[in-house]
Amino acid sequence: MRIIIFGPQGSGKGTQAELIARRHHLPYISTGDIFRYHLKNQTELGKKIGVYINAGKLVSDDLTNEIVKNRIDQPDCAVGFVLDGYPRDQVQFDFLYQLTKIDFVIVIELIDQEAIRRLGGRLACKCGLSYHLDFNPPKKTGVCDRCGHALFKRDDDQLEAIKKRLAIYHQETEPIFAAYLKDGILYHIDGSKSIEEVYQQIEKIIHQNS
Ligand code: AMP
Repeated sequence: MRIIIFGPQGSGKGTQAELIARRHHLPYISTGDIFRYHLKNQTELGKKIGVYINAGKLVSDDLTNEIVKNRIDQPDCAVGFVLDGYPRDQVQFDFLYQLTKIDFVIVIELIDQEAIRRLGGRLACKCGLSYHLDFNPPKKTGVCDRCGHALFKRDDDQLEAIKKRLAIYHQETEPIFAAYLKDGILYHIDGSKSIEEVYQQIEKIIHQNS
């Protein structure tokens, strides 16, 4: 089963994609995670992409397509995969379309105002844990529960970068949904609900259409 999860930043698409992947024993592929790994470890690729990621801009299509192709070609993806954060624009869509068939495209809907509220409260720790001021606050203000380090706001969670990412989503990503609609594999989900409720909506779609 090959699934793509779409949604604006803050819609919880990463969380849902991971849940589906775990439950259905599928590899979880997040281009954002792959890029952040390279950035953190300052690989050759990481050095090239830092400036784009920190500003909330897209990494070049050529680099992104190559990374996704290499990942999808791995043997573990023979059973399928859950894609999160890709394709993001028409060029990436065309590339993926000729690369492989997709079974389900799930769009998690969330209005911008709520996405901004959710992302604006997000705090990260260098150990990898993340918190939210409203939904998942640390026990002690500003400090990680697990390792005790000071929490910080990711560069791409600053307001200007959030707005930039949302604008890109509306302008570049949403237009590609039309082709999936035509193929009869596009499903919209209400992302304002709890993690569990959103997840149940997705499971229902997969179950009813498999
Ligand atoms: P995400 O965690 O999916 O929001 O991705 C974080 C950042 O990684 C984005 O703001 C982009 O800079 C970069 N990125 C992730 N996926 C893509 C993609 N498909 N195309 C281009 N850039 C991407």
